[in-house]
Amino acid sequence: MSDGNGAEQAGAGLKTAGLQPAGLQTAGLPTAGRDPGGRAPAPGSLRLIQALVNTSAIEFDRELLGSTSAAAQWLAAAGLLPPSAQLAEPELRALIELREAIRDVLAAHNAGWPDHAAASRLTMALTCSRLAVTVDPAGDVRLTSADHDPFTRVVGAIAAVIAEAAATGTWSRLKSCPGHLCGWAFYDRSSAGRSRWCSMQLCGSRNKMRSYRDRSRPS
Ligand SMILES: [Zn+2]
Repeated sequence: MSDGNGAEQAGAGLKTAGLQPAGLQTAGLPTAGRDPGGRAPAPGSLRLIQALVNTSAIEFDRELLGSTSAAAQWLAAAGLLPPSAQLAEPELRALIELREAIRDVLAAHNAGWPDHAAASRLTMALTCSRLAVTVDPAGDVRLTSADHDPFTRVVGAIAAVIAEAAATGTWSRLKSCPGHLCGWAFYDRSSAGRSRWCSMQLCGSRNKMRSYRDRSRPS
């Protein structure tokens, strides 16, 4: 028979290491612009997902994943690919699809209601990750791709970061801005969790002006 106290004591000694693969770089990753509004970045490894989404700035026509070599360089900076690894064109397309699928789900976090199409799109984009639970001799438990293909392991690492963020309750606070041609990913640290715009001064006030113009237009 199990002993409740014993289980509690064992729980107190549990390791709190992240589930994501070792070696991820999350700070100082290149993005297509600066975070507007002076917001602090997402916590922990979720910052990697935020930076990935922000490798494109539609409004300023900036794209950091514009070629296989540029994308491989970015993934290497994130510790997701070995520095000498190359990407093939279909892998670049899959990476862009994954990034945009994440952006769609972050938009759904902002909208506050379920978006079945966005959820399916991201599920599909992550489906090749072949995540497995690995236990090392020190007792650390991680989610890693069971595949040896470098790009599949990239997708696996991204999936593991998302899974960990969902488990710790931070995933739903990573949002993408609904501003016209924006889509910038930001982390909502407000107490109610209802921040809508990347920056109230930029997209928030532009939206107000847009609504005002729409209302004042003669019908
Ligand atoms: Zn915005």
